[in-house]
Amino acid sequence: MPNASPYDCTQCGACCRCFPIFATRKDAEREPLVKTETRHVEDQFQKTDRSYQLYPLPFLEACPFLKEDKLCRIYETRPDVCRRFEPGSAQCIEARERLKI
Ligand code: SF4
Ligand code: SF4
Repeated sequence: MPNASPYDCTQCGACCRCFPIFATRKDAEREPLVKTETRHVEDQFQKTDRSYQLYPLPFLEACPFLKEDKLCRIYETRPDVCRRFEPGSAQCIEARERLKI
């Protein structure tokens, strides 16, 4: 069945370069690059298990895993917060509006 949604993630990536993004220790166990390519913030956010900051980071305009073609480099093993983010949700629409997509 064709995808009738007007929200095409493959041409977008707005949510990967708009809001603060954090990963948990469980996310980092599933995808070890989270440990090496993000900012370790465990001491700051212990209660919520926001252990790794993906965005914003110094000198980066997007999550370090967002490729130039707007696709996720670790899509299969991406953090849970990314899995939960729904195309067409209020946050999705806000991200696209902010970045004029
Ligand atoms: S969820 Fe929304 S903002 Fe994120 S990539 Fe898909 S269309 Fe873009
Ligand atoms: S891990 Fe992938 S899906 Fe999650 S914010 Fe980064 S580029 Fe986007």
